[in-house]
Amino acid sequence: MTAIHLRAEDDAESRPGAVLSFPSRGMPARAPRSRLHLSPPSLVGGELAVLSRTLTDGWIAPAGPVPESFEQAIGEATTFNHVAAVASGTAALHLGYRVLGVERGDEVWTQSLTFVATIAPAVQMGARPRFLDVAAESWTMDPNVLESALQRAAQRGKLPRAVVPVDLYGQPCDLDAILTLCGRWGVPVLCDSAEAMGARYRDRAVGKGAALVAFSFNGNKIITAGGGGALASDDPALIARARHLASQAKEVAPHYQHETTGYSYGLSSVLAAVGLAQIGALSTRVAERRLVFERYVEGLGNLPGIGFMPEPAWARATRWLSVILIDPKVFGATREAVRRALDAANIESRPVWKPLHMQPAFRGARYDGGGLSGQFFEHGLCLPSGTMTAEEQARVVAVIRGCCKG
Ligand SMILES: *Cc1c(COP(=O)(O)O)cnc(C)c1O
Repeated sequence: MTAIHLRAEDDAESRPGAVLSFPSRGMPARAPRSRLHLSPPSLVGGELAVLSRTLTDGWIAPAGPVPESFEQAIGEATTFNHVAAVASGTAALHLGYRVLGVERGDEVWTQSLTFVATIAPAVQMGARPRFLDVAAESWTMDPNVLESALQRAAQRGKLPRAVVPVDLYGQPCDLDAILTLCGRWGVPVLCDSAEAMGARYRDRAVGKGAALVAFSFNGNKIITAGGGGALASDDPALIARARHLASQAKEVAPHYQHETTGYSYGLSSVLAAVGLAQIGALSTRVAERRLVFERYVEGLGNLPGIGFMPEPAWARATRWLSVILIDPKVFGATREAVRRALDAANIESRPVWKPLHMQPAFRGARYDGGGLSGQFFEHGLCLPSGTMTAEEQARVVAVIRGCCKG
């Protein structure tokens, strides 16, 4: 027992709402201490107890009451009626593509500005990806780009097998607009909400209304199981099919009988126990991340050439990562110069996702839209966004202010 050290959040009470004072621009940053990470996991404190009970009761495999309880908790947190907890968010997406019937030669459309895992399983299944630009108001799939692409695809007689919007950095996509367009042509929507559990779109939970939604419990996500994911839907048949495929597609028979091949994608009871302990803190974590974003706005908003990822009126984002935009001509330093300065101060930051249409892995894939995805990549920087003290966040702000020559 003593070998496992849970990092207690001893000052969690005092943190939200703490008053910050930011050092003035040009002041040297304090001597760097421990490295500040982009999105480190935060433990709630109850993980060890649930884990211990799970093991004591003899549950380890990806079956039994603990994964079931976790699925139920995910359903409550996301308002989906049917949930399959699986080994990763990528596995959830893979299963989503399988249950939607993606086959070799099919087209699957997603936004270019996303993590590779959104589309990787479809490509591995032989689908052809097509990348769409994002909208300036949300940085998520642009419904106008989607509409003209769908119109042209319908004329050609080759509609996509699935459209996959992404709730980027926790920002819900404009799902109603996307559902209306896809509904017109009967194209199913699989929402990649890996970064957005706990976000809200209009008056409902994120993703609600899509045929399928994928979530992730990777170590860097808002709620973590140490690894894991979930596929959610309000259609029981889709989740039953996903469950069947996730456990090697075993038919009901005394021997092993298979009509198709599946995967070993179950979530072990050990990981589910961690996730179960974590998920109760979802709304607290979202509030914390939103507060982190507000503090960046407070500390950096008056600098020339600094912008922020917007939040449209219909969105309540998780702010999984806080993202700034740096206009080098006005700010006086490039995004890369700021990233290096942060790194030298022992602070991790990262450029916004490199658009998938610019990735060598997808050479030759079609791209629709303008240059927004590329601009956000060129000028966008993701800042430390996890649980941290006001003092730690002030370190980040001070380094960025020190880079400003505008
Ligand atoms: C994290 C993430 C995934 C993959 O989730 P894993 O659990 O790491 O497999 C997929 N899409 C997006 C947008 C993500 O951020």
